[in-house]
Amino acid sequence: ETDRTTYTRVLLKLSGEVFGGGRIGLDPDVVKDIAQQIAAAARAGVQVSVVIGGGNFFRGAELQTRGMDRVRADYMGMLGIVMNCLALQDFLEKEGVDTRVQTAITMGQVAEPYIPRRAIRHMEKGRVVIFGAGMGMPFFSTDTVAVQRALESRCDVVLVAKSGVDGVYTADPKKDPTATLIHEVTYQEAMERELRVIDQTAFALGAENKLPMVVFGMEGEGNITRALQGERIGTLVTP
Ligand code: UDP
Repeated sequence: ETDRTTYTRVLLKLSGEVFGGGRIGLDPDVVKDIAQQIAAAARAGVQVSVVIGGGNFFRGAELQTRGMDRVRADYMGMLGIVMNCLALQDFLEKEGVDTRVQTAITMGQVAEPYIPRRAIRHMEKGRVVIFGAGMGMPFFSTDTVAVQRALESRCDVVLVAKSGVDGVYTADPKKDPTATLIHEVTYQEAMERELRVIDQTAFALGAENKLPMVVFGMEGEGNITRALQGERIGTLVTP
């Protein structure tokens, strides 16, 4: 398995959970490691954009079960995401990589507003673009945002970094010891076999617009750099 794809422009989705290192808040060591890996690929010439989740701060659906209004809780979730974005920006710039954060909720003091064409220009100039605050709309997940931003900014692929699992399996590997990693699958097949790849809205959007997707585990040494540089790790979901 030495075959690799050369991507021009990619979107990397990172779950917020990993930013917290398993706790609420931020673990700077984790963010630094991720930034170094992204920087390596950016220096090698890959145009990189990033969507981060916010699970290390708040998830709207969870706060709802504890009695909060869903809409307000979702906005809190989106604001949490922005903190992750600023942390990643900081460590990327310490690596010498120019970075712009664009948020879907306007907050001019800390980030640019989301302007798709400007985001593309940034990437063409070698800047890493971090899309923050989700879609700016309650009831969406950052997985869906990742697919939408990848499509709108014309990325070749969306790379979904997972924690605790290294791709899509035939069954839940935590429950079924016979489950095996799937190296490649079409959207159609994934749907028919009811494989759990990514949340349903994101999956449908990717399928309809024929966006290649790679689901990979971020724990392996240098895995983020490898995925960004088109190495065949994890599961490739093809149109
Ligand atoms: N969120 C939202 N709209 C969006 C993206 C995110 O309302 O477009 C909120 C939602 O409450 C979500 C939280 O932000 O639970 C954090 O995002 P997510 O759960 O996707 O983060 P992850 O699980 O990837 O860390």
